[in-house]
Amino acid sequence: MKASAQKEDLSIPRTMKAWVLEGPEQLRLIEKPVPEPGPAEVLVRVGAVAICGTDVEIITKGLPAWIEGGLPFNKNFTPGHEYMGTVVKVGVGVDEYGMGDRVAVEIHAGCGRCERCRMGMYTSCLNYGLNYGEKNKGHRANGFTTDGGFGEYAINHVNTLVHVPDEMSDEEATLIVTAGTAMYGLDVLGGLIAGESLVVTGPGPIGLMSVAVGKALGAQPVILTGTRDARLNLGTRLGADYVINVQREDPVEAVKRITRGKGVHYVMECSGAPNAMNEAMEMVNRGGRICLAAFPGEPVQVDLAKLVRNNIYVFGIRGEGRSATHRAAALMAQKRFEAKLIHTHTFKLEELPTAFRYFRERIEDAIKVVVKVH
Ligand SMILES: [Zn+2]
Ligand SMILES: [Zn+2]
Repeated sequence: MKASAQKEDLSIPRTMKAWVLEGPEQLRLIEKPVPEPGPAEVLVRVGAVAICGTDVEIITKGLPAWIEGGLPFNKNFTPGHEYMGTVVKVGVGVDEYGMGDRVAVEIHAGCGRCERCRMGMYTSCLNYGLNYGEKNKGHRANGFTTDGGFGEYAINHVNTLVHVPDEMSDEEATLIVTAGTAMYGLDVLGGLIAGESLVVTGPGPIGLMSVAVGKALGAQPVILTGTRDARLNLGTRLGADYVINVQREDPVEAVKRITRGKGVHYVMECSGAPNAMNEAMEMVNRGGRICLAAFPGEPVQVDLAKLVRNNIYVFGIRGEGRSATHRAAALMAQKRFEAKLIHTHTFKLEELPTAFRYFRERIEDAIKVVVKVH
């Protein structure tokens, strides 16, 4: 489909169109210089970029973006972190990727020098946002602490790239990073073993990709809970063995019924519902594991005694560490699940505000809204 990439004109202009964040909720399309790749970096001509819930957080509240030691407003900052594109220039010493390569990105390069980065936990870099002035530790998290993909070009460290097969569309390739987050959650739970049972709570993009990746890795059964039938049906198409509409059936009782009272090995919590943690503790078996990939807006009460009595493990994840994106991309390249089912809408770069509106208001049941840049 994109095999002609090499034949396209890859010449680089001096300036580019890019959206920048002014005040809260204020995005403006401007011309800014095309950035230069440094050592171990490449310049990516952005092909497509997907909108994520975190982009909405950044545009409205600023955090978790952190620019020059403060909130990201009025700093000429370009958000957007779930993009893919074509390598059009390579920095000094780069031979991992070449001109014309199609790539998808990870968000976090980290700093590469702190304890967590050295462990492969670069999404939990201890030098987060320290990439300016005297404090410069060289941290990068595109769309969070460095410029991202809501523009025509972006700089990426080679560690944050993964090759995209020719037959995968630009739109589908933007979903690699979402699948990477699901993969990272399953990694953190201990690495799924075929035949182990998994509940995913909440059929948002990460929940749906957790179903797909869990199934591709052999989980049995995979149970998805949610409130909307359309989303649950998508879950079935992505590999869920059972779906539970929590408005019609108590999810804890349903999981007990399906597992004949035993409960499951793992819960991936992707809903952020206030009672999700208490329910997850009822769904896992003794010694089971829970990964929190979403969070409630307010502090919640949790029955910690139950957790201790039953030796339940709880993990939180941020983003997509330990090269999980590469493993997710491999499953997608092998067509082990159809990630593109969650892509619902496409807009042009100039239409970014409309794309955000579709995403935020879930117009026409929007799930993944993609902006096609080139
Ligand atoms: Zn995201
Ligand atoms: Zn670091």
